[in-house]
Amino acid sequence: MIRDAVQRSRVQLRETFLQTTDETVDSLQREGALIMATAAVSPAVPPSAKNSLREDLTCAICCDLFRDPVMLDCMHHFCRPCISRYWRGTQGPVTCPQCRKVFTCRQFQTNYLVTAMVEKVRATTSQTYIQNLEKQLKETLESHRLRREDYINSLHREKDKMETIKRSGADLQVRVKAEFRALHQILDDEESCMLEQLRREQEDELEKVQRHLEAVKLAVRELEENMKVLQQASASTDHIILTELPQLRPYTQVDAAPEFDINTFSNKYMAPLQYITWRKMFKSLKPGPSPLTFDLDTAHPSVRVSRDKTLAVECDGMTWHSENNKRFLQCVNILAAQGFHTGRHYWEVEVGSKPKWDLGVASEAVDRHSRIKLGPESGYWTLRLRNRNQYSAGTQPWTRLQLGSSPQRLGIFLDCEERRVSFYNADDMSLLYSFANGPRGKVFPFFSPCISGSSQEPQPIKLLHYPPVWLSG
Ligand SMILES: [Zn+2]
Ligand SMILES: [Zn+2]
Repeated sequence: MIRDAVQRSRVQLRETFLQTTDETVDSLQREGALIMATAAVSPAVPPSAKNSLREDLTCAICCDLFRDPVMLDCMHHFCRPCISRYWRGTQGPVTCPQCRKVFTCRQFQTNYLVTAMVEKVRATTSQTYIQNLEKQLKETLESHRLRREDYINSLHREKDKMETIKRSGADLQVRVKAEFRALHQILDDEESCMLEQLRREQEDELEKVQRHLEAVKLAVRELEENMKVLQQASASTDHIILTELPQLRPYTQVDAAPEFDINTFSNKYMAPLQYITWRKMFKSLKPGPSPLTFDLDTAHPSVRVSRDKTLAVECDGMTWHSENNKRFLQCVNILAAQGFHTGRHYWEVEVGSKPKWDLGVASEAVDRHSRIKLGPESGYWTLRLRNRNQYSAGTQPWTRLQLGSSPQRLGIFLDCEERRVSFYNADDMSLLYSFANGPRGKVFPFFSPCISGSSQEPQPIKLLHYPPVWLSG
């Protein structure tokens, strides 16, 4: 019986031990992981976590980390040399120094798990390790500090950006509203003007009829008076011999009734008013399309210009030309006669299916006698076509543009105040490119028909004049 009881209690102890060992392992692992994790990120390692693990692995006899730890049956751990020394000289049963449990035989087990943990704690609490850790901490902290600074700077930048977006949005809103107000004004003026004209014409017609009406009324009155005289005379013939006709008042001859032709009256107003007004609006647009002409004095000798100065085409030979400082002598270029240095201007150019051209604006001061790369630095803001489908903006280096279609007509917009030069596909008014660093000072519309070198008949560059563009698409 007693033997059975002892056996049972041993089994219980064993189970408790296993359970405790599992918990210990868990706790050690948790604490170990905690220390490693906090050491890597936090400058302040909670000392309690480190200490409690160290305390758990400290021998109650030598008060130092276990050396060669062993476990007694009561499950208390001690250094093997410490417990051996403690029991040395004791005759008979020995006790656990911690719980005073009595053991008849001097028995203990080596706990490899605790040995491994002690080694780990010893290693992680060594001076070099701590120094290393502190260094890592400082470095991690510094890198965090720098990254935080970066993010804060980026926050400021983003806030500034948002302010800029809001400000430009508001400015643009004012601009758009002003443009539309101007259009509304044109329409309002046109409407008032037309209604006033209608009112006057209606009044004229009414007045004409009214005048005739008055004349007829007068004539009726005069006739009635004469009739009265005649009737009286007629009545008196019964007893007097009438010797002559009574004296009659001369009566007014009334003109024929004025014609009122409702068709003539309404023709002007039964018209396609919207289209007519739209056409009229062109004169008031700011800027409307400028009717440019080519300046012959600037034409390269290989550029021929039509008599009306709206067509320019390249030719193989050299045409006769007068000596002129304004003339381009190296590149096949030509300018418009109209230069601009203030305000906003827009003009349109037809290039058809020319395989090669340059268009834009050039500063008045550009060097016309040397071969120059076109770019804002040399006084040119241009768009160019090469090889039929390669479009580029004339920046240095060129900015290649991917256009969905090949524009036959181009619109060029120059805003001298905002220093902006923009290019549009004039067929649908889609923006192709915009220079924000536009010219200062006087500029001229610039064109280069280019020498295409193809066997086909060269096609001209055409300056488009009012009447206006048709907006397709
Ligand atoms: Zn010890
Ligand atoms: Zn004990």
